[in-house]
Amino acid sequence: MGFHDLDLNEQLLIARRGTAYFAQRLAELTDEQLHEPTGLAGWSRRHLLAHVGYNAAALCRLLDWAATGIETPMYASPEQRGREIGEGATLSAAALRNLFDHTVARLDEKWRHLPAAAWEAQVRTAQGRLVPVSETAWMRTREVWIHAVDLGNGGRFGDFPDVVLDSLLADIVGMWRRKDLGAGLVLAVDGGEPVAVQPESPPTEKVSGPLAAVVRWAAGRGAVGVSAAGVSAGGEIPEPPHWL
Ligand code: ZN
Repeated sequence: MGFHDLDLNEQLLIARRGTAYFAQRLAELTDEQLHEPTGLAGWSRRHLLAHVGYNAAALCRLLDWAATGIETPMYASPEQRGREIGEGATLSAAALRNLFDHTVARLDEKWRHLPAAAWEAQVRTAQGRLVPVSETAWMRTREVWIHAVDLGNGGRFGDFPDVVLDSLLADIVGMWRRKDLGAGLVLAVDGGEPVAVQPESPPTEKVSGPLAAVVRWAAGRGAVGVSAAGVSAGGEIPEPPHWL
């Protein structure tokens, strides 16, 4: 069962639980620790915090678009998105914590007040895909759970609900397929059927492990608890193809 099989209220609940999970990790960090780097190239925790805050603001724009029919994109351009994060990272720790709290509250309010008829309205993601605005529940879920791990102070994929892990893996494999990446790669989650990323290409490499470990690896967050077998790997865990 995937995230999208849940009813909307359950989806929003999981997004809110992810937000609480992120907020908990954030509360455990001192202001000084916000200066420290994350595993994301060039990003300190301040960049990450600015990004998570501005992501919620961008999702609010999609909800406004659905509610009014007036097109308001998530970001004016990739450059504008990057600039906003760079500038946001220079805010004080208190301002960054406020940004997070404030945008979380605003997104939640938009979700609570969107008229029932507007949930199917089509909006565009930052990648240019047209989706019903209900997809914002999944978009935010992905962000808060994964970036809680990126904070690097104890967040673990193993804490994610299984339905989030399942849908993340489906998302990542779907993205690889659309970009024609991962030829020969097979993912084997313990207790499940192995999945060939590109079913047409002959298998050359298999990455196996528990669900949370395989998703962590596939999301580019490290190879812990997975094992690899294959002609090219020689037992070494390969780098996953890029996802986003
Ligand atoms: Zn993100």
